[in-house]
Amino acid sequence: MSDAVAFNPHPVPKSRLWPQGIGRRLALGFGALVALMLLALSQVGLQLRVVSDITQRFATGDMQRLLRVQSLGIQIEGVGTPLARLMSASRKNRVPEYTEIDARNRRIDNIIESLFNDLKDVGQEETLRRLKDSRANYQTAFIATVDEVEAGDMTAAIQALNERINPALNAMLQESNNLLQRERERVETQLDDAQTLFRKVTLWVGGLSLLVVGFASWLAWRTTGSVVIPLRALESAAREIAQGNYASRVPTTGTTEVDRVGGALNTMAATVAEREQQIVRLAYEDALTGLPNRTALLKPLHPVHVVPNTVALLDLARLKVVNETLGYTTGDTLIQQLGQRTAAVFMAASAGGQIGPEPLVARLSGGTFAVAFFASSRDDAQAMHSALKAAMAQVVHCSGHNVDMDVSIGYADSGSADVSLSVDTLLRNAEVALHTAKRTAQGHAWHSEAQEAARLDHLSLVTDLRLAVAESQLQMWLQPKFSLRTGMAVGAEALVRWQHPTRGFISPAEFVPFAEQTGYITLVTDWMLREALRTLAQWTQRQPHLTIAVNVSTRDLQDAGFADHVGQLLQESGVQPARLRLEITESGLMEDPHRSIALLHSLRALGTPLSIDDFGTGYSSLAYLQKLPVSELKIDRAFIDKIDSAPGSQKLVKAMTEMGHGMDLLVTAEGVETEAERATITALGCDVMQGYLASKPLYGAALQKWFEALPP
Ligand code: C2E
Ligand code: CA
Ligand code: CA
Repeated sequence: MSDAVAFNPHPVPKSRLWPQGIGRRLALGFGALVALMLLALSQVGLQLRVVSDITQRFATGDMQRLLRVQSLGIQIEGVGTPLARLMSASRKNRVPEYTEIDARNRRIDNIIESLFNDLKDVGQEETLRRLKDSRANYQTAFIATVDEVEAGDMTAAIQALNERINPALNAMLQESNNLLQRERERVETQLDDAQTLFRKVTLWVGGLSLLVVGFASWLAWRTTGSVVIPLRALESAAREIAQGNYASRVPTTGTTEVDRVGGALNTMAATVAEREQQIVRLAYEDALTGLPNRTALLKPLHPVHVVPNTVALLDLARLKVVNETLGYTTGDTLIQQLGQRTAAVFMAASAGGQIGPEPLVARLSGGTFAVAFFASSRDDAQAMHSALKAAMAQVVHCSGHNVDMDVSIGYADSGSADVSLSVDTLLRNAEVALHTAKRTAQGHAWHSEAQEAARLDHLSLVTDLRLAVAESQLQMWLQPKFSLRTGMAVGAEALVRWQHPTRGFISPAEFVPFAEQTGYITLVTDWMLREALRTLAQWTQRQPHLTIAVNVSTRDLQDAGFADHVGQLLQESGVQPARLRLEITESGLMEDPHRSIALLHSLRALGTPLSIDDFGTGYSSLAYLQKLPVSELKIDRAFIDKIDSAPGSQKLVKAMTEMGHGMDLLVTAEGVETEAERATITALGCDVMQGYLASKPLYGAALQKWFEALPP
């Protein structure tokens, strides 16, 4: 959480009224809603109460009085009839008339009394008073009239009735009607008032409801927004992070729950970013030296400011042998030293301005390093080579050993090319140069445009190869091999030569690598196998113990039917399988070890012995070699070259020989050129030698002469 706040670029100002938590916000929102509803309901109830009060008052008060006043009139009018009947009634029939008149009089009195008790205004009181006076007049007139009736003077009675009672009754009726009129008016006003009030109540309740609905909607919108908007911010931030934009941070939204999730997301983004950086570092960094690796060289992570125009490719010689004889720690130390020294040389040169800034030193594999840098001229780059050579001159001390750092370097630059070449292309060219450097034993070589032209030339050459095989432009030369113990010839290695009709003689070093790249080499192998078997068949009579070794390429090993094919050729030739040998280079075996092992076993099953060629130049491990059904180790000629004066090489060859013997292998030394070299390898225990000292590869008449000179 605190992280999120720290990362937040735009903090949202916090409102003190609006709570931070979604839960509280919802509670507040719904609480306010409920309160509003209660308020509205109570108002409606209150208004209903007012209305009902009015109705009640109307029904029990005003309406009642109106009815009373009405019945007063009726009672007053009703007195007239029994009075009239009284005038003509016989004595005994007068009683019911009296009773009725009494009852009506009492009712009249009661009504007047009750009206008095419920006075509404002064006008009413006056009317009532006048009514009361008339009632008193009526009472006196009535008593006087009754007296005349009881005296039997009906004429006087009728006169009293007409002259006194009836006027009094009329006056009462007049006042009663006045009252009625007043009451009616009052009721009408009351009704008007009530109607106005009803209208007001309706307006008030309707308005209040509208207000409540409006406020509720606002509250709902505000509450929803306060939850949804931060969630949306969270969502878009999460999407940013998912797209790899780890620098983006979830902003603080002022909403507790969302901020908590946001904080977790921010922490996650930071962790993922860190882990991704780590992965990138692992993917771009070499673990042993800490230097960039091949990926980093070819696809720089960061934009380069100065495009490199030169690549140096350094290769530590004899690394595998060092590993196996002096131990992997020594090998690793050598690699680290090479990396450190190279980096130091280039960093110093870059700081001193001899070359452009940011030279990139990368470890490609094993003891191979590449440096991509910018040099203004070939001379500047050449100066780098001198500095490198000086840096490598010092021996490396490790676990009690002093090891020479023998490094071959291939250089390539964009040269006079108008467009600068890509690092990829420079690296490929530097590889070609490195190859040359190793072959010429000069230690270093520049990739020249002539070389590039030659390469393209070779590519076109290879297409001619099919024709060469068909038209027998190929030749099989044989280089004899001799036992170092007896000095006798033990056999020969078959080496291909190409007599091109227009280009003349082409060395295998020139076309074999390209034929391997394109796969045409299988045609060459097939042709050489047939030639070798034909020659062996011719030799059977005079030299049945001599063998011929044919070089097998990696491409042949990729063909699952290769062993069957060899078996068939052997059968067709009738030659004993043990007289044919097959040479396989160490590096070729390593390309697809599983498949190679299976194939070697089927080849061995034919009865044909197998040799490991160019031993010491590849990277195979001893443990791996032990699994191979091979019977000969051919130590690469790089180790034999000037071995008599190189104690380091002597150590290595001795170790390789002992190891080979330990595995029951025949050990052959290649490229023996001098007597001193021969003496040294003999002393070191090698079994067989091959080289210009004993014989160059032979062909035609020279071969025939050599063969005939062999002791039978
Ligand atoms: P490799 O198999 O190591 O053959 C030995 C090479 O060393 C041959 O070169 C041979 O002429 C050369 N050599 C022999 N003794 C000496 C010596 O005392 N000093 C020096 N400096 N060199 C010596 P070559 O014939 O030019 O062959 C070069 C490579 O071409 C061979 O190396 C092999 O890898 C390949 N190659 C030659 N013929 C064939 C072939 O028929 N099939 C295949 N697949 N590759 C072949
Ligand atoms: Ca060979
Ligand atoms: Ca060889």
